[in-house]
Amino acid sequence: VVVRGKAAVPTLLVIRDGEITFEPAGELWGREIPETFDALKTKFGGKRDVGVSAIGPAGEKLQRIASVMNDRYHAFGRQGFGAIYGSKNLKAIVVSGTRDIPIAKPDEFKKICKAITDEYKKDLSIVARFFAYMGKPKGWLGWMYRLMTRLGMKVQAPTAAMRRMWSQRGTTAAVALSVENGDAPIKNWMGVGSRDFPLAKKGMKIDGKVVDKYITKKLSCGDCPMPCKGIVKVKSRNLTDVRRPDYETIVGFGANLVNDDIELVTACHDACNRLGIDAVSSSATLAWVCEATEKGILTAADLDGIEMTWGNGEGALLLTIKMGTGEGCGAWLGSGVQRAAEHVGKGSDDFAVHIHGGEPAYHDSRFTSLMGVTYIADPTPGRHTAGSASWNETFGAGFSLPNAAEKKDWNVKWKGTEGKGKAQALHSNAHQAMNGLGLCMFTMLTGRLPWADLLDAATGWGMSDADILVCGERIQNLRAAFNRREGIVPADFKPHRRMLGEGDGHLEAGPLKGIRVPLPVLRDDYYGSMKWNTTSGHLAKSRATELGMADILDGYLD
Ligand code: SF4
Repeated sequence: VVVRGKAAVPTLLVIRDGEITFEPAGELWGREIPETFDALKTKFGGKRDVGVSAIGPAGEKLQRIASVMNDRYHAFGRQGFGAIYGSKNLKAIVVSGTRDIPIAKPDEFKKICKAITDEYKKDLSIVARFFAYMGKPKGWLGWMYRLMTRLGMKVQAPTAAMRRMWSQRGTTAAVALSVENGDAPIKNWMGVGSRDFPLAKKGMKIDGKVVDKYITKKLSCGDCPMPCKGIVKVKSRNLTDVRRPDYETIVGFGANLVNDDIELVTACHDACNRLGIDAVSSSATLAWVCEATEKGILTAADLDGIEMTWGNGEGALLLTIKMGTGEGCGAWLGSGVQRAAEHVGKGSDDFAVHIHGGEPAYHDSRFTSLMGVTYIADPTPGRHTAGSASWNETFGAGFSLPNAAEKKDWNVKWKGTEGKGKAQALHSNAHQAMNGLGLCMFTMLTGRLPWADLLDAATGWGMSDADILVCGERIQNLRAAFNRREGIVPADFKPHRRMLGEGDGHLEAGPLKGIRVPLPVLRDDYYGSMKWNTTSGHLAKSRATELGMADILDGYLD
């Protein structure tokens, strides 16, 4: 769906059985996400009949960190798409249909789906049970988590154990572990998790085991056999029917701000989803506020009376609400860390950690260098879900299209730089193919699915793993070409020194002590594997011809 131009008044775009209509948003403009969804579902149909993608007050006010919420609970958070909806006066897109989706080989498709579901649900062996148990963080194992990072030891749990763990806890299973082993950058990329937010005393207070206590209902996308999400209730905050916070939110509003109150973290998460702002960008901006306050650059007078110091969870909640509503200091904080620093001045841009305005997510490039490459080399900077070999680099996740590449090309060591550009290109192209197929990213982490078989049963196209990978490469090239058309060049995506382990980002304690990451070298290696010119970003004409893209990319070729 491509929406051009801007409606004269706040509008709903309604697509029913392929028929497109525009309806006035009326009183829905200004409403928060839950009310908006309830009203649209009542008007257009029940959960099974209608899909809704909508913005909250933040998107309407063009806050640059505004998200789009899908089907009430699922945030499309990064890159400010909510503001794009808002700029078009588009409150929501409503989609419904009554026709069947044609399946080329229905019996075969059902058979594959059943086999996958059975595999996900089968009983675990003793070994898998042991791994599923050990995979959940333990307060007494901090020494081991830190040591594994120091030594670059990858331990891959059996597929069945990963799936069980993911069904039970989803991303929350990784919170305390990641704060302790250095995966989670904290205190605006200056802190050391194991020192500033110790596992037993603080880390475990925001881990999945604690979050579990608030869950009232498991939640999944469609009929997924690995229901990794949940709905929570927090009595003390009067929160009901709230999507369970996940890894990024818990780290962002928790350890990152030195806040160990999971109920406040959940309240911040609820504010993000109700008002429609991105939890990564908003919490990263708050970490920058804390540092600016610590340095005496910002005071309570600048923040509508809020003294935003490290550990002030109540302050974080108030400021999150302001970012979402755009009121008071929220008007400039809601533009994200880069523009907030421009607004404040006084040298505060020096510690504004972003890449071309995109705040990096909560996976530290000093821990996983290839996530750092994704942050600075993917066309959408700062995102952790844009495709990376990071999961292979740090704990040995396999390649989802195994017949399309040799293991030596997609499998890398945790430490060092050897072969990483090629692996990054393979994994990120596969990731784009996965997005194009409408599959879930977590299937890349929790054991391979038969993509080619599923696709063939659904469409009859008969594509191989290699064909699918080429499609992913084409998609990645189109995404990159979008930036080239807009005049963005590779040098615009600069990593902050803290992401490189340089200057005050050169940590003196913890599992990442002394680590420096040659991100520019790794990025150039990735560019080389993609056949992209490191200066212009243009694709080599010879590769464009092989991909059948020479015409469409004309003007953006090397
Ligand atoms: S599709 Fe993915 S994100 Fe959705 S419930 Fe399943 S594993 Fe979780």
